[in-house]
Amino acid sequence: MKKTGSFLTGLVCPKCGKKYDSRRIQHLCECGSPLLAEYDLKKARAEWKKESVSGRKPDLWRYRELLPVEYEENIVTAGEGMTPLIPLPLLGEKLDVPNLFLKDEGIIPTGTFKARGAAVGVSKAKELGVQTIAMPTNGNAGAAWALYGKRAGFRSVIVMPEDAAKITRNECLAAGADIYLVKGLISDAGKIVARSIARNGWYDASTLKEPYRIEGKKTMGFEIAEQFGWEVPDVILYPTGGGVGIIGIYKALKELQEIGWIGEKLPKLVSVQAEGCAPIVKAFREGKGESEYFTDSRTVAFGINVPKALGDFLVLKAIYETKGCAVDVSDEKILEGVHRLADTEGIFVCPEGGALYAAVARLREEGFIQKDDKVVMLNTGAGIKYPDTIEPNFPYLELDATI
Ligand SMILES: *Cc1c(COP(=O)(O)O)cnc(C)c1O
Ligand SMILES: [Zn+2]
Repeated sequence: MKKTGSFLTGLVCPKCGKKYDSRRIQHLCECGSPLLAEYDLKKARAEWKKESVSGRKPDLWRYRELLPVEYEENIVTAGEGMTPLIPLPLLGEKLDVPNLFLKDEGIIPTGTFKARGAAVGVSKAKELGVQTIAMPTNGNAGAAWALYGKRAGFRSVIVMPEDAAKITRNECLAAGADIYLVKGLISDAGKIVARSIARNGWYDASTLKEPYRIEGKKTMGFEIAEQFGWEVPDVILYPTGGGVGIIGIYKALKELQEIGWIGEKLPKLVSVQAEGCAPIVKAFREGKGESEYFTDSRTVAFGINVPKALGDFLVLKAIYETKGCAVDVSDEKILEGVHRLADTEGIFVCPEGGALYAAVARLREEGFIQKDDKVVMLNTGAGIKYPDTIEPNFPYLELDATI
């Protein structure tokens, strides 16, 4: 059995500091907080050099020393990671942000960045001897875990709102998962999963109750730093639902600082939410460290319809400590963003990614984003996963003598 060289030492509670053994299955801390993976960063600083990464395969396992899987045979991969960082000069000109970039997760297996969390989460679950996983989902995470779970030989039990994008249901079904639909939100699906897990002894793969998907998502932070030559940009905007991505990016950047691969500067992290579901934005405006349940939440950007995230306090910490902010955007502006990215730059983003457009425009107007800032919009998925979300607002042309 070949070791990956991971510097993992265990799990730690970011709230009360209690430590847990990562060689056993763990979920939440006994205080109720999510757990985070910990590494021996001093040793990593001494032994791991950034030059060693550059020649590796262009996937997220190039950072395996700071990923939680200990044996190579447990790695379950479909080539996820190292997505392109695309300059957006035309949109940048329009928004008066010439150094605007899109990190495009739309080209990753399963079409959303949930593949990163699933690849690492499933791999670690395999290492821990798991056979059946169960989870609530808004669709994309369920699809990614069902597909990666199949590569690992797992049985998957997925519960999702019946309004979730139909494609994600079909992906789960295609992967042979047991899938259940609920009339309600992801939080209702979560209650059903919690009950069935207790009854059946399945592995709870719910967001943040499972400590390793965040390790997969943090690789977006490693990649952004590497793609800018181990310098960080000034601002990163992220469409925030459960917040795993933004917590992960912050964790990655702190780890890179500790191993000496980047300097003191951190990018300002900006959490973007829909007006119809903006618990983090509300908490940020009120200067709070935790969010409240956002009632009657709804938005076309289904992946960010999370009325109360288990890791909300970690999202807010990432925002406050990087001098970032949180902004909400109307559904109308979200769809406009999808159109503008396509008809200006030729990139068809998901609605969640579309939300970032109006956020950049507003933050530039307000002066939060400066003209010469390097700004990264993190597009979390492919527009083609939501074929019915956007209605083209122009008619088809008549077939006539001009063609
Ligand atoms: C899940 C999801 C999000 C939100 O991600 P979090 O890390 O949970 O905040 C954003 N966009 C898409 C497309 C998603 O599927
Ligand atoms: Zn704790």
